[in-house]
Amino acid sequence: MKIYNTLTGKKEDFQPIKKGAVGIYNCGPTVYDMAHIGNLRTSVMYDMVRRVFEYEGYAVTQVMNITDVDDKTIKRSREEKKSLQEVTRHYEDLFLADLHSLNILIPHKVLRATDHIKEMIDMTAALLEKGIAYPTADGIYFSIGMFPGYGKLANIKLDAEVRERVAKDEYEKENPRDFALWKFTEKGDEVAWDSPFGKGRPGWSIECSAMAMKALGETVDIHTGGSDLLFPHHTNEIAQSEAVTGKKFVNYWMHGAFMNVNDEKMAKSKGNFLKLADIVKADISPLAFRYWLLTSHYHSPVNFSFEAVKAGQNAFIRLIEAFIDFSTVPAIHDDHHHHAHLESVDYKVEFNNVINDDFNMPEAVALVWKLIKDPAVEPMDKSAMLMDFDKVLGLGLAGILAMAKSETLSEPIAPEIIALAEAREEARKNKEWEKADALRKELEERGYEVKDVEGEYRLKKK
Ligand SMILES: [Zn+2]
Repeated sequence: MKIYNTLTGKKEDFQPIKKGAVGIYNCGPTVYDMAHIGNLRTSVMYDMVRRVFEYEGYAVTQVMNITDVDDKTIKRSREEKKSLQEVTRHYEDLFLADLHSLNILIPHKVLRATDHIKEMIDMTAALLEKGIAYPTADGIYFSIGMFPGYGKLANIKLDAEVRERVAKDEYEKENPRDFALWKFTEKGDEVAWDSPFGKGRPGWSIECSAMAMKALGETVDIHTGGSDLLFPHHTNEIAQSEAVTGKKFVNYWMHGAFMNVNDEKMAKSKGNFLKLADIVKADISPLAFRYWLLTSHYHSPVNFSFEAVKAGQNAFIRLIEAFIDFSTVPAIHDDHHHHAHLESVDYKVEFNNVINDDFNMPEAVALVWKLIKDPAVEPMDKSAMLMDFDKVLGLGLAGILAMAKSETLSEPIAPEIIALAEAREEARKNKEWEKADALRKELEERGYEVKDVEGEYRLKKK
């Protein structure tokens, strides 16, 4: 298996710390608002990495953090006049619901920062003891001048003069500074914990160091995040972790590229801060969005537009149609087919090759289409292989087939009907009742009745 390692700037052979096992740490969401589609692209990337390792037979431990204390979450709780926990749990629930809609497997461990304050205090204490951290009037700071390798990951040239301290978690790109490990309580702060150095709360980056090492050990196989986290977040994670342990913190760093919307950077001020619900409103099913994401390599920036994703959805619907066809026709066994099968491409081997080559999902999707169109492969074999490949792609084919079969074998439900039903389900989850009703009417006009049974929907032909 080959992985592009941001730390070395090279594609490398993956060597696990423990044979047959892999520990993966994903930088998760800051739960002060709903995730935007760029965040969700990163989540799909995490899921893809986990699925590939599981497909290859590794024992995977996937860990993701939830940042439920920082400047943004505290600001939001003040604005909403709610407790920090009320606000952060709400957005955490919405985030996990988005993952569910996108058929993203929930990481084995989802760790909240506020449950690991003790570990962060211990790390800060160790750094103080080593003389790498120092106290100021407003907190405990990490001295980047004391850590020689600082900035290596993001290729940042360190100015020896840099010793400026910063009061905020967010600072300008490529402007390295000492950063806060612990922030003392200010007047009016209601969010604070006791510590040996004074009442306060942790800085942002310390949480990922503390939780990654607690869950996966002092050296972690793989650490992933969006490319926006390279600096300062991941740069700081490396510095504080390695300064404490004296060991390499992470063997392979993986970064997902960003997403633009209509050729512009996503920003709240531009009004192009799209969420999954906005896509569903445009009649795009979350699984079709996932399919569209897989058609770009995680290294490549992508440009979102409704037209592009709708074109992806059309392709996805054709894929489903073909899959249902293959899965519902009787198998033909004759010598001719058997012979032809022997001569065809070994799709399983090719699939393995592309997914092991730095998670090349666009090639994997291209291979799926090659298989679908290959006249030398029997429909039942195509169906079985597509089901197998879907363990990695995560397009929910098993569920779609079950739904199609539940109606009648001779007359599967058309994919566009399923897409409408999925969109309605999504609207219901988001409590967009008008939208859900409109989609129900649309389904009825197309001759389908939709019923909600035990938290799931069922389609019935009228
Ligand atoms: Zn992180």
